Amino acid sequence: MSILKFAALAFASIIAAPSVVEAQIRITNVSVLDVENGEFLPNRTVMIVDGMIAAVAPSDEEPPGADAQLIDGTGKFLIPGLIDMHVHTDRSALPLFLEHGVTTVRDMGTHFAPLEAGSGGQLQLRSDVARGIVAGPELFLSLRILDGIERDRWLMHFAHADTPEEGAALVDQVADAGGDFIKIYTDLDPDVFHAIATRARARNLPMVGHVPGRVGYAQAAEMDLATAEHLRGFFIDASSEEDRWRDMYELAALSGDASQTYALANGRLLEIAATYDHEKAAALFSLLRDNEVGIVPTLVVLDDPRWRYPSAQPDPALVARLSEIYSNIVTPSDDPRGPFATVTDGLAAHLRQRQLVGDMHRAGVAILVGTDASNPFVLPGISLHEELAQLVRAGLTNAEVLRAATITNARYLDADNRIGSIAVGKEADLVLLRNNPLVDIAATRDIDAVLFDGEVVQFESDGAQGGQSAPQ
Ligand SMILES: [Zn+2]
Repeated sequence: MSILKFAALAFASIIAAPSVVEAQIRITNVSVLDVENGEFLPNRTVMIVDGMIAAVAPSDEEPPGADAQLIDGTGKFLIPGLIDMHVHTDRSALPLFLEHGVTTVRDMGTHFAPLEAGSGGQLQLRSDVARGIVAGPELFLSLRILDGIERDRWLMHFAHADTPEEGAALVDQVADAGGDFIKIYTDLDPDVFHAIATRARARNLPMVGHVPGRVGYAQAAEMDLATAEHLRGFFIDASSEEDRWRDMYELAALSGDASQTYALANGRLLEIAATYDHEKAAALFSLLRDNEVGIVPTLVVLDDPRWRYPSAQPDPALVARLSEIYSNIVTPSDDPRGPFATVTDGLAAHLRQRQLVGDMHRAGVAILVGTDASNPFVLPGISLHEELAQLVRAGLTNAEVLRAATITNARYLDADNRIGSIAVGKEADLVLLRNNPLVDIAATRDIDAVLFDGEVVQFESDGAQGGQSAPQ
C-alpha cells in the first residue's frame, strides 16, 4: 500500500468532520452495484473525498459538498474497479489495464522485466504506481516463480529449486525483497513443494500458482495453497486412472524437459478427461471448497481464437502501445494446435475445461477472475472482459461474475477491507458504465469513466495527456 493510501486512510476517520475537504468528486444520480447482493441501487450519489468513498446515499438526501467536481451519473452504472488475479506485466501494459477498468492486478512473475529495483523492475513499478508517477493499477507481486525444472524459454523470473533447502531459501528471498506472495509452478518435486509451503507459512506469505503435477490438488489444498491457476492437472487428479497418469507425469518431470509435462497434462487432456470419475471430482470439489482454495481458471488463455478463425490476430491498435518484447509475446507465433493433435482437439479441450469451471462453481468452489495477460491474444485490460464473458458461458450469472472480479478477488488478495466494493471507507477505485452489466456482461466494456484512488483516469485516446495520465 502506498504512502498516499495510508494518508487517505488516516484521513477517512475525520471525513465526518464538517471542515475537512480538498479533492472532492460527487457522482450524482447513478445506479450503484451492490456486489454482495448482485443488484443495482438506483439514484445514488457517491461522494469521494481524498481518494476514498466518503458517502453513498440516495440522491435526494445527498450530503452537502459545495466545491465538489460533479459527474452526472444519470442513466449510468457504477461498479467497483475490476481486479485481474493473473497477469504478467511490464510498464507499457499498465495504462491498458486502467483504461479497461482494471484497477488492481496480481502480477504472477514477469518473464521480461528485471526483478531488481531500477528502471523497469517490478518493485520499482509497484512504488511508481503507488506514488502516482506512472498511470497503472495497484500491483501485487510474486517477483519470482518457483519451479523444479530449469526453463530456457521464460528466463527472467523463474528460479528453480532442486532441494528443500533451496526451496526454503527462495521463499526467504522473495519475502525479503518485498514480494506479496509465493508463486509455485508445475514441476516442483513434492519434498521441495513441502519445504516451500512450510516456509511460506512461516513467512506469512500466501502460496499460489500451478498445482505441481507430482503433488496434486488434495495435497496442495492441505498445504494451504491459496489459489490454483489454469485448472492445471485437475483432470489427472479426477481420473479413474490417476495412478497411471501420475506415473507418466513423474517420468516426464524427471526427464528435466518441461515441454514433456506440458505435452502430457495439456496435450493429452481429452484422453485424460475420458477417464473422468465424477465421484472423485466431487470429493475434490468439497476439499477445495472446505480449504477455501480459489480457482483461477484463466479460460481466456485456454481458448486460442485461431481454432475458430485461422487468421485471427490480436487488436493491432492495442499491441502497438506495448513494449516490443510484450507485443512479441501477445502476438501468436506458434502452431495454433499448441500441444493438441488438431485444432479441433484444442477447442474441445477448452470447452471441457469451461464445463469443469461450471461444475466447480455449482459445487461451491470459489472461482476467481484472472487472465494470464501477456500470453498470445491475451491483451492487458481487455482480456479481463473476455474472461468475464467466458465465465458467464461456464454457467456463472452476471452478478456472480461481477462479484468474483471484485470483492471475491479482493478477499483472496487480503485487501477486501479497502477495495472490491462500493462502500464508505473504501478506496475510490470505480468504473462508470453506460449500460447495465447485469443485463449483458459485455456492458463492462462500454466504459464512460474510470476512477483510480479517487482520480478520474485520462485515457490515451483523449489525447490531452499523451498517455501518461498519472493519478496523483
Ligand atoms: Zn501466467
